[in-house]
Amino acid sequence: MVMYIEESEIAVVGAGPAGLIAAREASLRGAEVSVFEEHYEIGLPCHCAGLLSVKGLHEIGVPPYGTYVQNKIRGACFYSPSNLSFTIEGRDYVAYVVNRRMLDCFLAEQALKSGSRIKLNSRVQSVKRDGEWILNVNRRDNFKAKLLIDAEGALPRVLKTSGLNLRILDKNDFLNGLQADISGVKVDPEHVEVHLGSGVAPGFFAWVIPLNDGEARVGLACKNSNLKDLLFSFIRKRFRGFEGINMRSFYSGFIITCGPIEKTYSDGLMVVGDAAGQVKPISGGGVVFGGICASIAGRVASEAIKRNSLEKKFLKTYQDEWKERLGREFKIALLARKILNRLSDREIDRIFSIVIEEGIHDEISAGGDMDFQGTSILKIMGKRRILKFLPTLLKAALVFR
Ligand SMILES: Cc1cc2nc3c(=O)[nH]c(=O)nc-3n(C[C@H](O)[C@H](O)[C@H](O)COP(=O)(O)OP(=O)(O)OC[C@H]3O[C@@H](n4cnc5c(N)ncnc54)[C@H](O)[C@@H]3O)c2cc1C
Repeated sequence: MVMYIEESEIAVVGAGPAGLIAAREASLRGAEVSVFEEHYEIGLPCHCAGLLSVKGLHEIGVPPYGTYVQNKIRGACFYSPSNLSFTIEGRDYVAYVVNRRMLDCFLAEQALKSGSRIKLNSRVQSVKRDGEWILNVNRRDNFKAKLLIDAEGALPRVLKTSGLNLRILDKNDFLNGLQADISGVKVDPEHVEVHLGSGVAPGFFAWVIPLNDGEARVGLACKNSNLKDLLFSFIRKRFRGFEGINMRSFYSGFIITCGPIEKTYSDGLMVVGDAAGQVKPISGGGVVFGGICASIAGRVASEAIKRNSLEKKFLKTYQDEWKERLGREFKIALLARKILNRLSDREIDRIFSIVIEEGIHDEISAGGDMDFQGTSILKIMGKRRILKFLPTLLKAALVFR
């Protein structure tokens, strides 16, 4: 005999930022929400550099003054393979470095205050839809829900058990990321560094995110598996050896640059955050875009419960809304990412020279947007400037498969 231990109107799988924001928005509007998190604690293990735009934080309903804020950032310095560099910066602070564990705890508090329940140490093993959803938790308990929000992160295993015909991300869609917090280094406390080049991080970039003038979060991502060697070699090169450097808190994880999955909803289901590929393809940042999509999912979920419209015909509203807000940016940024992936070191150097000669970085400083990276680049390059980049871009585009 099957014993249903508990039930709820909405079940959210995963208490990362996307799951917690979706839960917060749905329960704020009166829906009964339970969030399942497989770990004992919120926010652990951490797999994030925690660099979030000020505007993005505001959009996902997070005030910019919590204890999760570790540092304030004014801009970024970009370095080419042969060490050409330019800086993009705002007049005011444009981004914050946050402690992701503390940020996730804050989001959990928001979700709890708005009425959601959070179940820790509760791994959803499988889901089955039979009129309502039946979730198997920890291979022991069954849980019933009308609507399911999948916010499992980069490796959505539960979705595979749903029997729904959705394209699910797999390891081929990811880059491997590795970073460490290091101290005893001299860094500019207000600027992050982005280093490009096949010798540093083939197909992506390495980053130095200052925590203050003597501490930084240093990491990189790429397809390769020898990440540790690459990270050590980058740190050695950037800081001229390891003398006086203390390394602590290594974090690793998957970075998604393939853009969103085609369909993020089905009957009784919405997929949000990394699980849906809602990550900026150029930089791999997923908290803000995943959070924006999750807010929409939470609102649509509460409306679906109120109207008892749980079928995909109504839940499509979720996808329509996030595409309206972010669809164009995803398309442009994905194209830019594909081109970037194909550029040789020489071509990257060439692009840096043009940016520096034309003063394009100053225009990006004045009018760029850290989240809408694709759209900003396109707007600022303009038609005339694109001609200068054309040979390099075409060459890269021609080798698309
Ligand atoms: C090295 C690195 C650096 C990054 N730096 C940045 C950055 O600076 N800025 C930025 O915006 N993004 C960054 N990202 C990306 C960012 O971390 C993700 O986009 C973001 O965490 C996605 O949030 P999410 O809620 O979708 O998934 P997650 O944060 O992965 O949360 C998913 C949660 O679901 C839980 N879960 C999974 N399966 C189950 C299950 N079956 N049952 C119960 N619980 C389950 C997991 O334990 C986890 O807590 C970085 C990623 C990496 C790897």
